[in-house]
Formats: sequence, structure tokens, C-alpha cells
Amino acid sequence: MNIEMQSFVQKYDLLGCVQCGRCTGGCPEAIRTGLNPRRVVHDALDENMLDELAKLPEIWDCTTCNTCTARCPKGLKPVEVLIGLRNILIEGGVIQPTVRDALESAFREGNPWDKPRATRCDWMKDLDVSLAEPGEKVENLIYVCCTICYDPKVQGIAKNLVKILNKAGVDYGFIGEDETCCASEVYNLGEVGEEGLFEMMVEDNTELLNSYDATRIVAISPHCYSALKNQYPNLKADVIHYTHLIKELLEEGKLELKGELPKRIVYHDPCYLGKQNNVYDEPRYILGRIPGAEIVEFERNKERSLCCEGGGGKMWTESDSKEERLAETRVKDARALDAEILAVACPFCILTLDDALKAKGFEEEMRVAEILEILGDLIE
Ligand code: SF4
Ligand code: SF4
Repeated sequence: MNIEMQSFVQKYDLLGCVQCGRCTGGCPEAIRTGLNPRRVVHDALDENMLDELAKLPEIWDCTTCNTCTARCPKGLKPVEVLIGLRNILIEGGVIQPTVRDALESAFREGNPWDKPRATRCDWMKDLDVSLAEPGEKVENLIYVCCTICYDPKVQGIAKNLVKILNKAGVDYGFIGEDETCCASEVYNLGEVGEEGLFEMMVEDNTELLNSYDATRIVAISPHCYSALKNQYPNLKADVIHYTHLIKELLEEGKLELKGELPKRIVYHDPCYLGKQNNVYDEPRYILGRIPGAEIVEFERNKERSLCCEGGGGKMWTESDSKEERLAETRVKDARALDAEILAVACPFCILTLDDALKAKGFEEEMRVAEILEILGDLIE
């Protein structure tokens, strides 16, 4: 059954809304693109209006950062209402070609990037990587992420993790070619029908992941972490983010950081780690252990952190807005702090912030770096 066949009003508890506007007040896209979650929640009360509402271009400007949901005093989830509207379009066959291609590729090849499954592990070539076999006992089953597997700009994240795991003597295994997209972005693009692609992928992935005798699954990307942790109810193993594991290794003395990195570092909270899952301390603990580094904070940090616009299917959609991108605002904020490294813990953040850095011409003064890449240089 698709969402339209159920009562939209009941499914999203729209009658509970008191129109306080806290959702729109916190929405990073409200000023930039005119997205107004309060208004959408109000207008969706008229179910005859849903098809028209779903056609508003700003529905696709939502980054699924979750600020609206976190701020709602009545427990509503405006972000889910927006995803539900995307679903109405998809169910009706009205779909942007880039979104259609991403969904078809996720279905066909197990990744949204239109890349062959057979090349998923090419990044591992020449590395000493331990692969896990189904049925085998493994303490840490590593879940890489499609973007990291295929995009050379962020493959260094996984390569450095391998280096760190080997150095620290961790019991781990990668899944290899059988690893399939976690479907987080499939969901965000609107494939949320009860018999839709998202549900199918969750079922297949659950079967695959449960076929390993793993104590825990370690997701490298916050998007995979959030999906596996919150949207896969039948996984046998615990799900953690890699920052949990690295913090543990540092605390237990199994990982030692050598040399000095006398740089001013500011950390950008990825929405899917911070606002979505309250993981704020682990990345800060790790950065705080870097010898010689000075760690500074954005004024808008943790729960108030600014979104980089990498999530919510935004990698496959274009915005009509001519306003400055949020990632550009973010790198300007970092520069104002005289930061030399803008540290992140997410592949999407790397891509959006690095683009913004180049667009602003700040490459001389500052670089964007994933925490694992920073650590990789400090363990030799
Ligand atoms: S924050 Fe919640 S109650 Fe307030 S307008 Fe938004 S959805 Fe309605
Ligand atoms: S999830 Fe973020 S971008 Fe989307 S409506 Fe809510 S606050 Fe705005």
C-alpha cells in the first residue's frame, strides 16, 4: 500500500500541529529556498491538495537534516511529511531523470552512482584488507558506503581505516562485492511505499548482514550508520559509527598517534551523526587527542550545526535557489575562525565542503579533511 492510500493526515499526525513555526524557524533551507515545513504541514491537512503540494519545487530542497523534527514541541516529523510528498510524485511516475537513474542503479547494481557492482572493491587493490566470509565469527564487520567505494575523492577514507585497523590489531572484516547500498538515500528520495525499493533493500541487506557472525557492524558513513541503526529493526549485530571504534582504540591504548600536527582545526558536525543520532563527543575526543593541534568550535555547533546540504538526496537533485550554498556559508565561518583544517566525519560533507572551499578560493589557507585521513598520517 502506498502512502496516498493511507490517510496522510493520520500517518503524520498532522492534526497535532499547533502552527508554532519552530520547524521553519530552524530550517536551514527556509531563507535560502523558501522551503516552509510549517506551511507544508498545514496545507497537507487538505488531502485534495496533496498532489499540488508534492509538485512544489522546494519539496526537493529539504536536506533531511532533521532540525525541524528535533525542534517540534508536539513530536511531529515535518521531514517525514516532505519525504511522503516525494513518494506521491514517485508513485505517480513524476520523477526527475537524475533521481530515476539513482533509484534504478540502486536496484540494479546495489549503488546509486550508476557503477557496476563488479568494481565496488577496486579501491582495495594493493591494500592488505581482511574480508569476512558469511558464517565466520568477526568482531567488527565493516560497512563501507557506496560513495566511498566509487568516488576517488573520498576513497582515502576507507583506505586510511584499513591502515588504522591493521596497525591497531583489530579483529575486523570487510563485506566485499556483496555489500549493497544501505538505501538511506533511496528512502530520502521518496521510495517509502510499504512494498517499495527501500523495504526490499532493507530485507535483502538484513539477510546478508545477519549471515555473518558479527558482534557489531561498523559503518564508515553517518548515512549508512543512521539507516542501519534506526531503519533495520531485525539486525542481529549492534551498529556503531567508526568514531565509536576509534575512540575505543585510543582509550585502550591500542592506537597511538605519533608526530605533531600543529594546526588549528574546526569540526563540522554531520547531520546524520549529530542531529540525527546525538553523536557529538566521539569525533571531538579523537580530534582532541591529536598532538599539537588546536581545536576550535563553530558558533553554530552540535544541535545548532549548519547542514552542508549533502543529504536528503541532494546529490541527485538541483536547487533553483540562487542564494549562497550552505556549504559556502560553512567554509566562510571556518575561515573567520582562522581554521587551517575543516574536519568532518562523513563522505558527503567532504564533497560539498571541498567544492565550497574551491568556489570561495580558500584552498591556500584551509583544507577539508576527513578524520580518518588526518589520523592516517599520524600512525606511521
Ligand atoms: S514545529 Fe511542529 S507544531 Fe510547530 S509548526 Fe512545525 S510541525 Fe507544527
Ligand atoms: S529536514 Fe532540515 S531542511 Fe528539511 S525541512 Fe526539516 S529543517 Fe528543513
